[in-house]
Amino acid sequence: MRRALATGAACALAAVVFSGAFGGYRSGQLSLFLVFAALAVSLDFVWGYSGILSLGQLLPFGIAAYTSAKVATAAPSLSLPMLVGSAAVGAGVAAALGVAILRRRPSAVVVGLLTLVLSLTLEQLAEQWRDVTGGFNGLTGVPRLGALGIELSDAAQDVAVSVLAIVAITVVGTLVTRPIGAVLIGIRSNERRMEALGYKTVQIKIWAFTVGGALAGFAGALYVHRTSFVSPQIFGFSLATSVVLWTLVGGRGTIVGPVIGAMAINFASATLADVWLQYWTLATGLIFVAVVVVMPHGLVPSAQRLAGRPARRQQPNLRPAATDADAPSGPGAGAEAPSADAAAVFEARDVHKSFGFFRLLDGVTLTMEDAELRCLIGPNGAGKSTLLDILSGQQGCQSGRVLVFGAEHTGRHAWEFARHGVSRKFQSPQLIDDLSVAANVAIAAWGTRSSPWALVRRSWSTAVPRPALEVLERTQLSERLDMRAGDLSHGDKQWLEIAMALAGRCRLLLLDEPTAGMTVAESLEAAALLRELHRSHRLPIVIVEHDMAFIRAVADRVTVLARGEVIADGTVAEVESDPDVQAIYAGVDS
Ligand code: ADP
Ligand code: MG
Repeated sequence: MRRALATGAACALAAVVFSGAFGGYRSGQLSLFLVFAALAVSLDFVWGYSGILSLGQLLPFGIAAYTSAKVATAAPSLSLPMLVGSAAVGAGVAAALGVAILRRRPSAVVVGLLTLVLSLTLEQLAEQWRDVTGGFNGLTGVPRLGALGIELSDAAQDVAVSVLAIVAITVVGTLVTRPIGAVLIGIRSNERRMEALGYKTVQIKIWAFTVGGALAGFAGALYVHRTSFVSPQIFGFSLATSVVLWTLVGGRGTIVGPVIGAMAINFASATLADVWLQYWTLATGLIFVAVVVVMPHGLVPSAQRLAGRPARRQQPNLRPAATDADAPSGPGAGAEAPSADAAAVFEARDVHKSFGFFRLLDGVTLTMEDAELRCLIGPNGAGKSTLLDILSGQQGCQSGRVLVFGAEHTGRHAWEFARHGVSRKFQSPQLIDDLSVAANVAIAAWGTRSSPWALVRRSWSTAVPRPALEVLERTQLSERLDMRAGDLSHGDKQWLEIAMALAGRCRLLLLDEPTAGMTVAESLEAAALLRELHRSHRLPIVIVEHDMAFIRAVADRVTVLARGEVIADGTVAEVESDPDVQAIYAGVDS
């Protein structure tokens, strides 16, 4: 955070010196391009960090620009307060859009197209609605920024606009160094995982969209004062695609990238367009193609890679939770589970799940009365993973009910299951590949108590329940906390995901094939570790597994799922001697 503030201060100083040294024309260019850079950073915050492909950053930008133009013309003395107001206008526009669009969980392409179409529609509207917008020619003669009856000179305004744009960029640049920055990257790269950790991902995305809108709105107000006019083209296709180009060329997911992208392309345009007027548009197209092909990550990340210095991110400091109140109620909090009041750990009653005409689960009833270590087995395609999905809210079912610790959870979201204590490891490891091992664990620990602003304010020092730290230590992951999660071996990814499941509010642990990719020795070690966790914390665990040696080593009880039903249930010995089970395994496996 200090680094971001220092960089911002240095840039502001450099902008002032540049303006003083090169004077009028160049200073004016710098201020305009810094406004564009702020607009690009707003897109980057929304797209590069949060994964929302918005081609409509011009909506908050343009609406705030028109509003500021109107207010400044009617009451020039209000131009400074209106700068702050413009951020609110931008935030309001983006929040309304976010709520309308993102709550329906559309795909990235749909969000991109919808926002672009809305922006182009507004361009048309602004052309038609002459009384308010001035029609095709727009609003002209917008006064310069001023206060107390004094209007700034052109030169002073250029410096002010440059500095204010840098301040706004720095605010957002600081925001992404906070824990929320890691969470946004998590949502961008694996929304399903984040939801399973307890994050209300849709709410956080709307928040990010709103913050991006505030920056775009602020940039819109700066723009309109700087250029003294605004026309419908502010919503147009050309600017919309340019912002994407600046961000892509500079490098998404870095704040410096879009700033450099916007500055470099605009200065190059301004200088080269005079010389090669007719070729310049073609040249920008070629630059775009070249960057996408040669440096798909953009200038800044590619340069960092070349220099062997990947982006340095703030790393969380993991410390053992002193008490359960300190931690997000890890397995140690089992006592608070209402299992003492005789409510079952979970109950799935008469669950039906079909995909089209294919009936996968046809009346499955599965109950865990008391904290047990239960294995769920069955042939491939029997629906074991789907059943775990239903028990953790990843998927709904057509009929039937799901209760967790006595509370009705049918039809609830995955984050609601997670906040009630259901922790999940998926069949194929679901990690935040781009973040470090430590960041993955910290994100898991924050998940069940996480509002966006709390994630901005909270510290990186993170209390982690002891069982999660034990797993990290026993698997030597604790010596590789800085390593990128995506670079771990398959077996280590499994362990990290188990540690993450234990780092949250874990009162029921669901593990889908945890030993896949592990050696025989590792898998026996896993069995011992899971038994120990179960015994010392009275933690209820469900494990989907194939490996009979592992199952014999861990399970209190085994449930067999086949033909859409539970066909057997009992101790390992009972299930193994069941003729029905033998017939199914003989038919499928041999
Ligand atoms: P298991 O974990 O027991 O191997 P799964 O729960 O993964 O079984 O899935 C069982 C079968 O259900 C799959 O083989 C597939 O045919 C079907 N299935 C699962 N998810 C979907 C889906 N989203 N759409 C269509 N079919 C699905
Ligand atoms: Mg499966």
